[in-house]
Amino acid sequence: PSPVITLDGPAGAGKGTIACMLADKLGWHMLDSGAIYRVAALAALRSGVGLGDEKALAALLPTLNIEFNNGEAWLNGEMVTGEIRNETCASATSQIAALPAVRAALLVLQRNFRQLPGLVADGRDMGTVVFPEATHKFYLTASAEIRAERRLKQLSQQGLSAKLCDLIQDINARDERDTNRPVAPLKPAADALVIDTGSLDQTEVFATVLHYIA
Ligand code: C5P
Repeated sequence: PSPVITLDGPAGAGKGTIACMLADKLGWHMLDSGAIYRVAALAALRSGVGLGDEKALAALLPTLNIEFNNGEAWLNGEMVTGEIRNETCASATSQIAALPAVRAALLVLQRNFRQLPGLVADGRDMGTVVFPEATHKFYLTASAEIRAERRLKQLSQQGLSAKLCDLIQDINARDERDTNRPVAPLKPAADALVIDTGSLDQTEVFATVLHYIA
């Protein structure tokens, strides 16, 4: 089987950027598992299925055609890259992601990304559940305040505005749900290298990751 490197951690810890840099550098495939959960949540929002209705969601998910190419996300042939990034969708995502049947339904889809020459997998449970046999595992974290400030900066670069206190509240609510759910709770794998990215810039985090792999 081809090698896998996993990057897990809470929202805004910088996993996505580091995962892209690493996949680029190695020439490997990349899995943004959060995007899969987000597309699933968007489909749930659109269908009107209750976000806690595990049975209905488990029936809905296998009927969806979820695809990614060139950084774009597609739901049943429609490009949804922008729509899955808003806070409504993020919040719905962490609600459906707490349900065991939802996680089970999305497992095979995620494992199918494992292809030669290798895979960099970004998410919450990549090292603990989806690819427990991964070659190298990282867990990136930072305080909620720092992560909210990064998100604010990102939004303002996109010409969008938000209040820092609202962002901190969103992040705390999402962390709380991701950490306390009974299945695949957010936590570092026992064999993961934990990196606090709070006082590090991207270059320093990337250097730490590369050093550990080498
Ligand atoms: O990483 P991202 O912020 O896009 O993830 C959105 C949400 O999807 C997370 O808050 C989490 O609830 C869920 N998720 C998950 N397991 C993953 C990736 C994402 O539960 N592997």
